Amino acid sequence: MKLNYEKLGFKAGIEIHQELLTNSKLFCLCSPILKTDDPEFLVKRYFRPVLGEMGKYDEAMLVEYEKGRTIVYEGFNDVNCTYEIDETCM
Ligand SMILES: [Zn+2]
Repeated sequence: MKLNYEKLGFKAGIEIHQELLTNSKLFCLCSPILKTDDPEFLVKRYFRPVLGEMGKYDEAMLVEYEKGRTIVYEGFNDVNCTYEIDETCM
């Protein structure tokens, strides 16, 4: 069976991740060094559903929120800043 992607309204995108040889990260001046020793601080994040651009909640986010799921990020004072943990106010 051959699918008619145009009729289905199928859209796809590609996201490419590539480590670049730079002196700083893309959105701040922190060093891009990847550390592996014990972290100096932890950031614990809770899933919190917010309305998307189309006025709807992300179904996957709602499921994770209902589970009470969290994510813990590890950080270092010399290579991580508020940009990286989404805490920078403009
Ligand atoms: Zn930074």
